[in-house]
Amino acid sequence: MITTLHDPVATADGGTLRLEVSVTFAPGTLDSSTVCFEVQPGAVGVADASVLPLVPAAVVLASGLGQDLRVTEPLPPTVHDGARRVGELLRRWYGWRPAELIAPLGPDPVRPGWAHRRRGLGVFFTRGVDSWGTLLALLDGPMRRRPTHLVTLDNEVHLAPAVRQAQLLETQQAADRIGLPLIVVRTDVRSLLDPHTDWGTQTHGSVLAGTGMLLRHVLREVVISPTHWTPLVRPWGSHPELDPAWSLPDLAVTHHSGAEMRWRRVERIVADPVAADTLLVCWQGTGSRNCGRCEKCLRLLTTLHLLEAIDRTAHRFDEPFDAEAIDADLVVSPHPWCDTMDHLDRVGLRADPLRQRWERVSVLARPAVWVQTRPRQPRLPVVIAEDVPHADHRRGIDALGRRLAALGLRIDHDAVHRAPDAGAEPALRLTRTDGGGWAVLPNPGAVAIDPIPLPALVAGDLDPLLAALGLDPGAVAPFDPDGQDPPPAIPEPPGWVPPPDDGAGSHR
Ligand SMILES: [Zn+2]
Repeated sequence: MITTLHDPVATADGGTLRLEVSVTFAPGTLDSSTVCFEVQPGAVGVADASVLPLVPAAVVLASGLGQDLRVTEPLPPTVHDGARRVGELLRRWYGWRPAELIAPLGPDPVRPGWAHRRRGLGVFFTRGVDSWGTLLALLDGPMRRRPTHLVTLDNEVHLAPAVRQAQLLETQQAADRIGLPLIVVRTDVRSLLDPHTDWGTQTHGSVLAGTGMLLRHVLREVVISPTHWTPLVRPWGSHPELDPAWSLPDLAVTHHSGAEMRWRRVERIVADPVAADTLLVCWQGTGSRNCGRCEKCLRLLTTLHLLEAIDRTAHRFDEPFDAEAIDADLVVSPHPWCDTMDHLDRVGLRADPLRQRWERVSVLARPAVWVQTRPRQPRLPVVIAEDVPHADHRRGIDALGRRLAALGLRIDHDAVHRAPDAGAEPALRLTRTDGGGWAVLPNPGAVAIDPIPLPALVAGDLDPLLAALGLDPGAVAPFDPDGQDPPPAIPEPPGWVPPPDDGAGSHR
């Protein structure tokens, strides 16, 4: 069973360099096809007719199909080595049989030293959080690693041509404002890959690496932005172990450091007027803005809200932030969910009603790796005594929230009632003390006891209430109400092994 890359054709037409590669699959499996790359401006592309830019993606595709990959053109030893390393990762991550790369061994390309100095550094650029974060970090960094080009891939084959054109125009405007030349590479490679492999988790890094190979005429290094925060890194289409495997002696393929959490990248973005003006994370919006309703948008809007930057970026969204849209219907992967929780927990109790919303969403993932997660403390319904004036409610709730934080519990913000509105359900009754402080009756249904002043409230006082509400006392986890750095997390259990991946569950 063999996939074959053959008959590359390169043509230069006007300002565009066009490379077409034919792909044939084992008889009786898939129809043969062609993949096209178009580079603008054409002068920056490698003009050789070569299958090389398609090899990384084809190795992933052939492995996914259970076929080997044959190439008639001699390939350098580094590509053979890269294919072996990537095949091994895919075996480890997905249990795939690695495709064997069957190709004559060619020489490694050699460039004179001056060429290394004169060629530049390109950053793959989508205007999303990750690529803006990488670009701004590199622009702030040492001169020798200052980006010289932005590279954008026009490959969203599922989008209407007019939308793609409008997005490209805005990307060009962003590049102009930053003062860097933009290279546009248009490709239909996803028409070949997407029916058999997943762009997000399996193929995109290899497509970007292949695109870099096509541009090494002008670039000595291409930088791919990290998706994951390093401590939560997991099998993905672009990965710190995978992307650099496709480096050549005359091209470094770099996976940018994922040391910054995503919300920290947003913090960097809102401080930059061009980035804040052009940020695009979502492809579900009308035209060139973010929809404001999908999980990606709601995560970004939550971060912007916590950074108090909603107003500055309001024009980037079709709809304003509505926290009520964060509910159980929303499906989020563990990594971005932990990122959002991390930001909420660093802000502290002030963001607790919003945290309660994010606790309700559906967190789904492939069980391939342990994902460090965040505690969901039991939340208690509260009844505020009738004699507490309405104007004091907020202060009372705040004082109670602070005391509960020390005990590892939280308030159920959807179940805070004034006494006459309270239902018959068990709840924590909040009242004033004679001295002007606050006190609680932990279990109003039980035998009459005096209210306990908040400073004297201890965990054991609340056990009967937790039991009456059916809440898990084991989920108690104290936290700092003013925000915690780092926030409490649930670490990987000792000896944890991944459960078998049955292919179910969302992993995008
Ligand atoms: Zn959206």
